[in-house]
Amino acid sequence: MADSAASSRTPPPDALGEIDLNVLHEFVSGSLATLYAREVHYSHQATWCPEWWRHDDAVEVLELLRLGRLAIDDWLSWSDWWALHARPHMAALLDPDGTFKFCSARNGHKDMLEPLPCTPPPPALRAAPAAA
Ligand SMILES: [Zn+2]
Repeated sequence: MADSAASSRTPPPDALGEIDLNVLHEFVSGSLATLYAREVHYSHQATWCPEWWRHDDAVEVLELLRLGRLAIDDWLSWSDWWALHARPHMAALLDPDGTFKFCSARNGHKDMLEPLPCTPPPPALRAAPAAA
């Protein structure tokens, strides 16, 4: 049982560039947008970007949802897809302070989010290189 479930699963792509945006767009626009319909035009509780493919994290999450949907093979995995994957991932994506902050269904994509600031740790806190 576990072997057949594991063998039917598609391995995730190794890199963002391996995700086929045409296939993903078919899933998002043709399935997910209807399955997960929400008010995003006038709501302050949910934000969506019609150009979701401009957001790397949205692309990865939506691809995971697509692959998870393809792996549904019984009622339990169907339930898991909703409870463990679709609802939490979509709630995070639609969070007004999240991925699509500044974007909107009415006004489109706004490229205003910057990468998280990162300061390198001081040398004293860096791990010593492993001995050969
Ligand atoms: Zn956007």
